[in-house]
Amino acid sequence: MIILLLSRRRIFQDLVAAAVVIITVTALLPIIAYGELQYLANQLPTPNQYGAYINAGITSSSTTNNKVVILSFDDNRKGDFTYAKPILDKYGFKATFFVICGKTTDIGAMNWQDIAAMQSDGMDIESHTMTHAHLNTLSQSQLDFEIGGSKQCLASHAYNTTIFAYPYNEGSNNPVVVNTVAKYYNMARSGTEPLMFLDCVGFKKNPQTDCRTYSPAGKLNYANKYDARSLSFDVVEIKDSFNNAAIFSDFVKIVNSQAKYNQGGKINAVPLVTFHNVDLATNTPYHTNSGLFDQLMKYLHDNGFRVLTFKQLGYNTQSNTFYLKGA
Ligand SMILES: [Zn+2]
Repeated sequence: MIILLLSRRRIFQDLVAAAVVIITVTALLPIIAYGELQYLANQLPTPNQYGAYINAGITSSSTTNNKVVILSFDDNRKGDFTYAKPILDKYGFKATFFVICGKTTDIGAMNWQDIAAMQSDGMDIESHTMTHAHLNTLSQSQLDFEIGGSKQCLASHAYNTTIFAYPYNEGSNNPVVVNTVAKYYNMARSGTEPLMFLDCVGFKKNPQTDCRTYSPAGKLNYANKYDARSLSFDVVEIKDSFNNAAIFSDFVKIVNSQAKYNQGGKINAVPLVTFHNVDLATNTPYHTNSGLFDQLMKYLHDNGFRVLTFKQLGYNTQSNTFYLKGA
């Protein structure tokens, strides 16, 4: 009887504790939401123009499945292992790392041990040439070395790469380069667009009807299987003169700009955001300050974005469109 009374008393205490937690959280929610709205309103230069984005950032979970970002990091920089990965881990995000196979022993580079740790934690390792050459300047045998050789080099370290990223975003408009990429990879990535349209229709300056590599006239299509268009986020940081509030505001604007294209559960526009070196530097081109990077990832996390790797981007050869695997 005493035991029964004690356990009842314990249950009652637990119930009271749970009720207190629920009441506290419920009371705080509007304050948290309002605080975020105020924060964003203060960050954004023209609140009226970006009002839709502010609202998009705090919508209910029913719309969150339409918000997707694919993250990649180029050039196997050490900072991406030391600073970016722990931040990605904190928010449960996976990303793609495009590795220059001939540059894993350079000062400031991720080495094979770092890269192995990345992959064993679920990060996607893909190819970014042997030496980061300017592909438009190379002979066919040099192209085979840079493009095919890097696939082989990564394979010799047990990485099966199927996706290629063009150094300096050069070469994706050159049939000789693209045909070489197509010999070795399923897909490739260049720049520089804030949104990738998965059906490749929607790039206003470059009209096309699907993502096939060549147009019926035999010209390379602007966006295609070997030219998924990503945004080098460094471009934004340089444009904003490394002003963190301006960069954060632009990031919010970019990642939410997909909303109007992704209605009714169908996803057709995805920002493919590329970073280079996440580290402690400030005001340095091609370096993203780790504190700022944390803020950007926190925004994605707190606003229900799904963060995917390039491996989760598929290509349908029937419809000649990209799609998100498992979506
Ligand atoms: Zn690069």
